[in-house]
Amino acid sequence: MNTDHPKDNSALRVQKGIEHPDSVNPEAVSRLMKARKSGPSVDAYVHEITAGNIMLLSKAITLIESARPEHHAIAQQIIEKCLPFTGNSYRIGITGVPGVGKSTFIEALGTQLTASGKKVAVLAIDPSSQRTKGSILGDKTRMESLANDPNAFIRPSPSAGTLGGVARKTHESIILCEAAGFDTILVETVGVGQSEVAVHSMVDFFLLLQLAGAGDELQGIKRGIMEMADAIVINKAEGENLNRAELAKREYANALHLFPKPESEWLPRVDVCSAQSGYRIQEVWDMITDYFSATRQNGYFKKKRTDQARHIMHQTIQAALGDLFYQNEALRPMVRELEAQIHNDRISAYNAAGKLMEAFIAQIRK
Ligand code: GDP
Repeated sequence: MNTDHPKDNSALRVQKGIEHPDSVNPEAVSRLMKARKSGPSVDAYVHEITAGNIMLLSKAITLIESARPEHHAIAQQIIEKCLPFTGNSYRIGITGVPGVGKSTFIEALGTQLTASGKKVAVLAIDPSSQRTKGSILGDKTRMESLANDPNAFIRPSPSAGTLGGVARKTHESIILCEAAGFDTILVETVGVGQSEVAVHSMVDFFLLLQLAGAGDELQGIKRGIMEMADAIVINKAEGENLNRAELAKREYANALHLFPKPESEWLPRVDVCSAQSGYRIQEVWDMITDYFSATRQNGYFKKKRTDQARHIMHQTIQAALGDLFYQNEALRPMVRELEAQIHNDRISAYNAAGKLMEAFIAQIRK
């Protein structure tokens, strides 16, 4: 847990949940908790979450993030029962290098959305948060208004585990947030590595924030990330920077034309904005809603979510099989022996893998 930067409110940095006012009588919740020493029942969780109880939503996300298998088991049951309440939300991924203005953008967009009656959840994937203790740019206070907005919920990136593990936890948290009535889910990630691929696999719309005047190599954005984007928005478009942002917009639009037509039939759009002044934030939102209308109409919205769910199922199986293999104590000496043989060029990697799989299958058949 990050205690170094207690004032840092970015979803990518804060390691503690943001406290929200309870939407139900706290005494009722406390009675509920006392009724079962081990915590509320699965049904109580589901009932309270779907009633919009933020406290129990947070608690359920803590179960998702817990390393304890019994917590994990309860979390799975809660998620399963919350699934029917999801499906009508907008899931939006937001990426860009540190400093591009993600937090400021989310603050500007989020407060605008809550003012128009929407309920906004901000989640994050930051696999580096463990290494850097969540401090990418130091302890600046961000998303202040949103953090104090009763119609917003900000949850930092789970800090422990592999990217796959962190991504899974975030995806499961999305489901619970939706069941709690959040209709707009913003998933923030730092655009410098594999994490945007993970975010892309769990959102409907993927927004890349860029700056004018810095080459792509400078911004560390790979072509693959541009290809995943449904929109590129050039931030900090104000004052002297506005012209440069407009120029960059044209360059990006030209570059995007060269990419193959996506399955969604949505041609990625480019715009400029100033998260700081609020310039064109509404237009960016209008573009996002255009995307949802178009993809709901042509069926891609549903298809993408189904594809994502199928992909998650296969990934989960692969991970579980991997765990089963690598946690098998009896195979460890053989793994070490074959590694040594590979080292001495006495066996090919494929052959060694084949022998290990045979031994593994024989083990589990016993
Ligand atoms: P993040 O690391 O991507 O989350 O970026 P932040 O939102 O923390 O912004 C980085 C810095 O850029 C902060 O000092 C912001 O105040 C500033 N910033 C963000 N958006 C804008 C903008 O639209 N215009 C200007 N001039 N500065 C901005």
